[in-house]
Amino acid sequence: MKVLLLEHPRSIMQERCNDIANTPLSSCLISGYAAGMLMKGGHAVEIIEGYLEGLSYEQIEERIRAFAPDILGVHMVYHWREDFALFAFLERVGQSRLASAITAYGFFATLAAPDILRQCAAVDAVIIGEAEAPFAALAEAGAAGISFTTIPGIAVRDSSGGIKYTNQETVRDLDAIPFPVRTEALYRLPEVNLLGSRGCYGSCTFCYINGYYGKESPWRGRSPENIAAEITRIVERTGKREFYFTDPNFFGPGQAGQDRALRIAALLKPISILFGIEGRVNDIHDDTIAALVDAGLRHMLIGLESGRDESLRRMNKMTTVAQNENALRILRKRGIEPNVGFIMFEPDSSLEDIRINFEFLKRNDLLKNLPVTANVLYHHQIVLEGTQAFHALEREGRLESRPTPYEGNAQLRNPGVAVLADIMRQVTNVLFSRMDGIWSGKLMEPPGMQRQYEEINRILVALFEINLSALEAGDIFDAGGIALRVRAAEKEIEDILNDCQII
Ligand code: SF4
Repeated sequence: MKVLLLEHPRSIMQERCNDIANTPLSSCLISGYAAGMLMKGGHAVEIIEGYLEGLSYEQIEERIRAFAPDILGVHMVYHWREDFALFAFLERVGQSRLASAITAYGFFATLAAPDILRQCAAVDAVIIGEAEAPFAALAEAGAAGISFTTIPGIAVRDSSGGIKYTNQETVRDLDAIPFPVRTEALYRLPEVNLLGSRGCYGSCTFCYINGYYGKESPWRGRSPENIAAEITRIVERTGKREFYFTDPNFFGPGQAGQDRALRIAALLKPISILFGIEGRVNDIHDDTIAALVDAGLRHMLIGLESGRDESLRRMNKMTTVAQNENALRILRKRGIEPNVGFIMFEPDSSLEDIRINFEFLKRNDLLKNLPVTANVLYHHQIVLEGTQAFHALEREGRLESRPTPYEGNAQLRNPGVAVLADIMRQVTNVLFSRMDGIWSGKLMEPPGMQRQYEEINRILVALFEINLSALEAGDIFDAGGIALRVRAAEKEIEDILNDCQII
């Protein structure tokens, strides 16, 4: 069979320009893993990087026409209510009979399968969860000319307008899956992405990782030997030495997770690479971090999420503020300034929560670097299908005016918190949008920006402090007052950026 896998263009709404939770980083290899499995089965596979290569739908249509696939696979990524251009394109592809069958896969496809099958008639099937095995079985069924509708993990429409499928087993032995296929576009990224594990042993209310893999999915790790073999092969073939583990949680649970990380460090050290990882703060142990740094670890994202234990409990983070601070201390001691995940505004935040968060950030020197400051002072909890939070808020009737069935718009319970969140979102959006080219690495940064960054950083911290203090004192902000405060801060920031000729 000829299978074409599409990474479609993603159009980002201006007001969502820095909302990053629509798909986890690990999804960047979903198509590559499916391609590896399909190639192992003898199928002809091509991947179109519509997103990374900036292709238009017209260009993609030409590529599909030229390849003439039997199956068009679409890695569907939620792009903030802008899915209809993709759906319209797929309808055109279906009507022109450019592919015999269209199959969607990925996090969004898995968690929004009923909506996708209802809204887009051109999609014949949706893979629920990991794509490799269902895709391989789908191609085999196509080659044999038999129905694919009973393959585990493949959802199709039923006669009553709903969907039907049987769950697939999650992949237990990740070493048994072929290495992912990487396109030239993936190799052009600053780091080579790889996936050393799947799932997470955590259960945070805002997270959909395990909703994708299945409720019973445990954290599953590839063997250190298998990971080292893939990295060695990439280094030998491409000369690239900078890698990023896109695992939502690099560390497995408990001592076994630490032992595995130490074994990975021992195997990676002689290969001489640099790499980054992401993980939970309770897995930051000094001896393990020291070994990983010795093996090339240079950066890390940790999910702090809050500076208050009550909030961490509300999110079911299963960590504490003390563990957050301990992780920061260990990483800094080992020379790593971590990138941090932080949810300043939860649906149930009180002004007291916000104050405690703010003091935590100040106390831990997390408000001194502009990109970090801008992120931690505005981040609100995004509520997506597949998360515990989505279903809890839905049960409570708090997902008012949901923009799509997939994303819930939860009102912040506390009016003062909602005002502060609104102000910070509007002001930081201006900054994110002006800095997008530079912070995404597409544009060169003008020289000598440090002083301007420090000035904008000071403006943001002061904006937060002044408005939080006023709200704590009981001030009432009307729409006009909010607009004035936003406009004044925006103007200060824009004047600085204009001086640097950042447009
Ligand atoms: S620790 Fe991270 S990956 Fe794990 S459930 Fe929480 S947010 Fe998700």
